[in-house]
Amino acid sequence: MILIDGKKTSEILQAEIAEEVLLIKSRGGKTPHLAAVLVGHDGGSETYVAAKVKACDRVGFKSTLIRFEDNVTEEELLNCIGQLNSDADLDGFIVQLPLPKHISEEKIVAAINPHKDVDGFHPVNVGRMVAGLPAFISATPFGIMELIKRYNIATSGKNCVVIGRSNIVGRPMSILLSQKGIDCTVTLCHSRTKNLKAICAEADIIIAALGMAEFLTGEMVKEGAVVIDVGITRVKSDKTKSGWKLLGDVKFDEVAPKCSYITPVPGGVGPMTIASLLYNTLLSSKNEIYK
Ligand code: NAD
Repeated sequence: MILIDGKKTSEILQAEIAEEVLLIKSRGGKTPHLAAVLVGHDGGSETYVAAKVKACDRVGFKSTLIRFEDNVTEEELLNCIGQLNSDADLDGFIVQLPLPKHISEEKIVAAINPHKDVDGFHPVNVGRMVAGLPAFISATPFGIMELIKRYNIATSGKNCVVIGRSNIVGRPMSILLSQKGIDCTVTLCHSRTKNLKAICAEADIIIAALGMAEFLTGEMVKEGAVVIDVGITRVKSDKTKSGWKLLGDVKFDEVAPKCSYITPVPGGVGPMTIASLLYNTLLSSKNEIYK
């Protein structure tokens, strides 16, 4: 069994990005610039955005943080997005989700210029991905594909089961894995799927992204399978200093011994997310997606 080290892979990807930024600057090029819009003071969102800003510093990007209070109006936020869209120095920006209930996330995402949508949530980028055209791919699916590629995991003709059909993880994963060149035969499962156990037991590759702690058990996985655990559930623990621990969607102790490759939680898919966002920003600064 090979443990897929997302932390190390993320560090390698960030080091590659930093090296390219140095090269760009040494040739007199523009420093890549990422902005983040943060609304309110949600603990999770604060942590994610702070980590993104710190990562920008690490790889030599310029970063800008724009903050609004919870009571910001949709119109104010749309105005801000309009300004960011027309800021020539900015290569990409993200609006940290979730947003307060009085603001339509759909409207906000749709207002972002697809050329600067480094989160890859805009329908234009999603559509381009589906059509197999160059697109900003959202961070978690991008990170998973990068792990699969960098660990040289065979995909062609493999039976792949994706559990979960959300727009940010499951559905894009099913599309990317079935693309030409990756060539998996994909089954996309969800809460209404029947015989999930039997479907999983046939899978060469399982992407577990349903958000139910330790859902995938040993009996659902065949010998030699590749298992990618996307789930993150925070549960109370008296064994950690913080009083909390993170569980994935996979019952690791039962499943790992049967696998050829498996990602741990934490330290698997999670750490890849920020590196993927930086990579998209670098692509944008080089005009690689929309030439
Ligand atoms: P979501 O709640 O939007 O979607 C869950 C999906 O799972 C739904 O499509 C639902 O149909 C399916 N599902 C629910 N119960 C099921 C069942 N019993 N059998 C089969 N399918 C079932 O979740 P999401 O946003 O896609 O996130 C999924 C998990 O991944 C969460 O734990 C989330 O925290 C985690 N996540 C991790 C990262 C990361 O960077 N590691 C990023 C995004 C999400």
